[in-house]
Amino acid sequence: MTANLLDFDLEGLAAFCEQLGEKRFRAVQLFRWIHQKGASDFAQMTDLARSLREKLPGVCTITDLPVLSRQDSADGTIKWLFDVGGGNAVETVFIPEEDRGTLCISSQAGCAVGCRFCSTGHQGFSRNLTTGEILAQLWHAEHFLRRHLQRGERVITNVVMMGMGEPLQNYNALVPALRAMLDDHGYGLSRRRVTVSTSGVVPMIDRLAQDCPVALAVSLHAPFDPLRDDLVPLNRKYPIAELLDACLRYLPAAPRDFITFEYCMLDGVNDTPEHAEQLVQLLKGRVPCKLNLIPFNPFPASGLKRSPRERVLAFAEVLQRAGIVTTIRKTRGDDIDAACGQLAGEVQDRTNARERMAQRRAAIPIVAAGAPQ
Ligand code: SAH
Ligand code: SF4
Repeated sequence: MTANLLDFDLEGLAAFCEQLGEKRFRAVQLFRWIHQKGASDFAQMTDLARSLREKLPGVCTITDLPVLSRQDSADGTIKWLFDVGGGNAVETVFIPEEDRGTLCISSQAGCAVGCRFCSTGHQGFSRNLTTGEILAQLWHAEHFLRRHLQRGERVITNVVMMGMGEPLQNYNALVPALRAMLDDHGYGLSRRRVTVSTSGVVPMIDRLAQDCPVALAVSLHAPFDPLRDDLVPLNRKYPIAELLDACLRYLPAAPRDFITFEYCMLDGVNDTPEHAEQLVQLLKGRVPCKLNLIPFNPFPASGLKRSPRERVLAFAEVLQRAGIVTTIRKTRGDDIDAACGQLAGEVQDRTNARERMAQRRAAIPIVAAGAPQ
């Protein structure tokens, strides 16, 4: 079997080189060619010994994801749809801003958590992405953008694991991908510029603190359990109090001294001034945090509506008055369905998705098959 070199962090690549009877430092050279220069052809790697250059094509590849489509928004946002085989596709979104370029990466085809307001959740779960598939999204986007924008230097300055899927239910593939993002010989991103967003897989938050602490965003969406049980079914397994305790345990290892809580604003569901007060009661003096309010991006099957602008502003004001730093997320890439929660990709194995949703809502919390607990 040939290995895909995008499946490795530097440590993994060094072990692979050793298996080939090569010195470990060769891995550094290879890693830099792949991630810093975007090379996919071993013949280009002129500083590698010729014998190695000739050996590599027989034992490994650098395999990109096939692009099904690329859409460019009027605001500069770019969305790719990548084919991950078996009729599944995942989406990746580049969001340019004045002082940074953020790539939003998918971790799974579909998602098993099944949040009510999320179109990925409505599709059901198909499978975990491999490390190579997670990293290929960054590798492809970075080197495409350098060519496209004719920039010699790094274009992507921030990564958010906020595309399709629950990254902490694909932990074993996620961690090497994060390590390659952080590695000075890879993308050299600082820990505070790589964010894992989670619906609250408590044991994996603890493991991330040990293995690879990066910035953490937690999708909260409700100030009390019965409402969160309904919106984020995983809450039935890891209720709010346990989740907040996990956030507190994470902070000492975290690159930032606060946790970001995301809160999707749903008309008449979680957006009243009382909800805001309850949120203040829940968080104030307990968890150092910032609140990021996300205007809900509607899709027909959800049956939910976006909160009116005034309600979002009033909600933010309650929090701010209580001293909780609160921002309202700007919606980007609206015209190409690239906004949060609109990433539907294509998930084939969604037989009886509606039935599965019903079962899940009754019984959950399901953790993706094969996902570490
Ligand atoms: N599974 C992870 C990361 C992917 S979702 C998580 O849930 O955190 C990334 C963010 O988009 C989450 O905060 C999620 O709550 C939000 N989101 C999902 N669907 C949305 C929608 N329809 N409108 C606005 N935000 C949405
Ligand atoms: Fe999964 Fe996150 Fe969507 Fe919930 S919001 S269904 S956890 S991708």
